[in-house]
Amino acid sequence: MNIKFIREMKTFTKSTIIKSMMVFLFFLSSCATVPLTGRRQLNLVNDTEVMNLSLTQYDQFIKSNKVSANKIETERIKRVGNKIAVAVGKFFVDKGLPNYLDGYKWEFNLIEDKSVNAWCMPGGKVVVYTGILPLIKNDAQLATVMSHEIAHAVAKHSSERMSEQLLAQGFGSALSVALAQKPQETQKLAMAAFGIGTQVGYTLPFSRKHEYEADELGLYFMAMAGYDPNQSLDFWRTMAQNNKSTAPEFLSTHPLDENRIARISEKLPEALKYYHPQKGK
Ligand SMILES: [Zn+2]
Repeated sequence: MNIKFIREMKTFTKSTIIKSMMVFLFFLSSCATVPLTGRRQLNLVNDTEVMNLSLTQYDQFIKSNKVSANKIETERIKRVGNKIAVAVGKFFVDKGLPNYLDGYKWEFNLIEDKSVNAWCMPGGKVVVYTGILPLIKNDAQLATVMSHEIAHAVAKHSSERMSEQLLAQGFGSALSVALAQKPQETQKLAMAAFGIGTQVGYTLPFSRKHEYEADELGLYFMAMAGYDPNQSLDFWRTMAQNNKSTAPEFLSTHPLDENRIARISEKLPEALKYYHPQKGK
């Protein structure tokens, strides 16, 4: 080994260590904690930017889709949704995070569409498709779907998904930079991350960790809103029995397996502690 080689190796090692440290510090500063489960998550995007983007996407969605004229079903969606929203608000206050939902303006809409689907965007815009209603037997099962979607939103899963995708595309931190440089790709990515991509054929499945987290939080939220969390088992079993040809959109973005249903059963005793039946209907 000659001296020049050793010197080069030292320089190489030094710069590699510095680079690794910078990457490490970058990730350390970019990590957030899901306040409800304590899980650390990658978050490179700014909440306000995500919220603004979600509002734009939501407005476009509502303008280009048919809001249901069925008053009874629409009122049901709004009634169940509002109860969950109140419960979620109380949940964060109880956790000592009264400002956690700042910027949220809840809205619940039923969309005339045969797709078996539902989603909630960051900022509290919730959409249920008429196509999912035949698979829902009662209000508690509707609350299962809506609480699950709301849990994805408040646990900032879309920000995490966008961060991972932006990083993969070489964008460091700013969502606004990505939007300015690749507007169409970034909007497509956002739609997929928010859950509305299925309509334009661009899906991004939630990961298993996100599904488990949304299931657990969803159980607490529905129970706090007065809906029997036991009903969620029946709903997810129905979904599992209905193969992908019956519920392609929902199951493509919300992968479901026997383990998930087993995990929901495990979390039920904890969720039942929050359940006060007299509040529900
Ligand atoms: Zn999900």
